[in-house]
Amino acid sequence: MLSHKEMKELASHMLKDSHYVSLYLDVDPTNNPKKDELLLHFKNLSKDAFEKLKVEEQHSIQIDIDNIEDYLIHHPKDMKRGIAIFSSQSDDFWRVYHTAMPFTNQLVIEHDPYIKPLAAMTDIYSRYLIIVVRNKRARILMADMGQIEELFIIEIPVPELDSGRDGSTGDMAEIRAQRQKDQVRKRLYKELISVIEKMRRDEDIHRILLIGTDSHRGRFKDALPNELRERVVGEFAVEYNASPNEILKLSMPIMKDVEYKFERKALDELFNTGGGGAGAVLGLSDVLDALQQGNVHKLYVMSNMVEPGMVCNNCGAVTTLRETPCPYCGGEMRKVTYMLDLAIQKAMDQGARIDMLEEAPRLVKTGGIGAKLRY
Ligand SMILES: [Zn+2]
Repeated sequence: MLSHKEMKELASHMLKDSHYVSLYLDVDPTNNPKKDELLLHFKNLSKDAFEKLKVEEQHSIQIDIDNIEDYLIHHPKDMKRGIAIFSSQSDDFWRVYHTAMPFTNQLVIEHDPYIKPLAAMTDIYSRYLIIVVRNKRARILMADMGQIEELFIIEIPVPELDSGRDGSTGDMAEIRAQRQKDQVRKRLYKELISVIEKMRRDEDIHRILLIGTDSHRGRFKDALPNELRERVVGEFAVEYNASPNEILKLSMPIMKDVEYKFERKALDELFNTGGGGAGAVLGLSDVLDALQQGNVHKLYVMSNMVEPGMVCNNCGAVTTLRETPCPYCGGEMRKVTYMLDLAIQKAMDQGARIDMLEEAPRLVKTGGIGAKLRY
């Protein structure tokens, strides 16, 4: 799974003289039933991209194309449903990421890794803790970018009941059994809560899905401290022993729905603080200015839009399309095709948060990009 740290590291590789080949493929076997179909997709994509390059550029990335082809031929067994490959032989750079969700096929040759599709996937599929709870046992799983992992199983041992030995009636035995059951449950909840708190602290996971029967969930929820209860963003019932993949399948639509709601909220925040008042900017030009000043707190970008821009060969400043030299240093500027991608990289590098949006007509109207400011 791709961590936030790795994403940031990837974003830190900014415009150099060397070229980067970034390849995204849908490698889902059901979408690519024929043998060598992936390779064919890759060959078509690389041919198209290649033809747009100058001869000396073609020469410098030929080795990257060959290396990627070689990888696709020899590593089909490693593949899940999506793959992202970044290669720049001249910069000694090679990364492969397998994802459980497919990408749209795309190949980009630029002076930096093209990270937007990967950033969008990381953002859209936030990490979730999934808790399956019963009376004396619980499972803790983590879902991340369409993948799921079983982390812990907690089971509280139940001591044998010495029922009837003291001559107690059925009622007494029942009361004692009930009391013991309550104690076991209490211990389970205590351990479970401490694990959840640790995961929140250490792994920075803030969204929880709760699974179990209505009564199991209800009881556990009542036992949760307020702060954790507010983090429960979805609930449903499933067999306790369901496989992680079954659980993931049932969780996915809920997670999508949750992310959609968070998106609406984020957009409301952006537009309520923007437009006249301080605190937010809309549109590429103002956002790039804010990035130049290191003043972006959170960046909002449409995941499916492409906007060109300019970058200064001398100081690395970014601007919208212009004919004149760099406004910051007077240096020569060059055109980049994927300015939104570069803006994401800059923002990540400055420690800003990124929110990728799939459906936001309001943001599309203002150029597909906006930012909340630091000051
Ligand atoms: Zn400059």
